[in-house]
Amino acid sequence: MTEDTVFMKIIRREIPADIVYEDASTIAFLDIRPNNPGHTLVVPKTFARNIFDIRDETLDAVMHTVRLIAPAVRNAVSADGMTIIMNNEPASGQIVFHAHVHLIPRFSNDGFGHLPQKQYVPGEAASIAEKIRQALA
Ligand code: AMP
Repeated sequence: MTEDTVFMKIIRREIPADIVYEDASTIAFLDIRPNNPGHTLVVPKTFARNIFDIRDETLDAVMHTVRLIAPAVRNAVSADGMTIIMNNEPASGQIVFHAHVHLIPRFSNDGFGHLPQKQYVPGEAASIAEKIRQALA
């Protein structure tokens, strides 16, 4: 079943996790394979696969929890900053198909830097922007 994800098992306490926060709509726990110590996942209790099917109120609840716990995660590991990301579909690195937001504590010396950046050829940005505007219209 689509909704029988590893994160649902954590929500139902069928498998262990280092849970740091929970409310009626969301749960937050440490990522089992952290990019850095303190790497935390915020997961909605109402199932969605990712950003492409999540309901507004579900994402609102997730982001409320992200904002609530970010300072606590930062302080717990004395991080210098934090990368907050959501992977959506395998091309982006999504491996658990239950929507979640990563809070990744960042350190000045962690060596991760920024995602590699590219350059547009002339006219490409304007063309893509127009396609996005048309898709939204
Ligand atoms: P993503 O690549 O965005 O789908 O991220 C899924 C994350 O879930 C990965 O970083 C995994 O390390 C993490 N993960 C998978 N199983 C567990 C688990 N049982 N407890 C905690 N984190 C997990």
